Amino acid sequence: MKPQIRCPNLNHSRTRVTVRFCSVCGEVVNREIPVRKCSEAEHATRRRERYKFCFDCGEQLIR
Ligand SMILES: [Zn+2]
Ligand SMILES: [Zn+2]
Repeated sequence: MKPQIRCPNLNHSRTRVTVRFCSVCGEVVNREIPVRKCSEAEHATRRRERYKFCFDCGEQLIR
């Protein structure tokens, strides 16, 4: 049996998600949403808001 990794982000249990990536674990939560190209400024703002991963491009913001 594979151990279940529980991500606290609610995006995983929602049926209609408006973002492609989970900002907590970086996993794809909605494949229908295209990957966005973000600017450094957007990433800087998200880093300040304590998003570990970018929900638009999946890049890890906080290491
Ligand atoms: Zn997650
Ligand atoms: Zn991004």
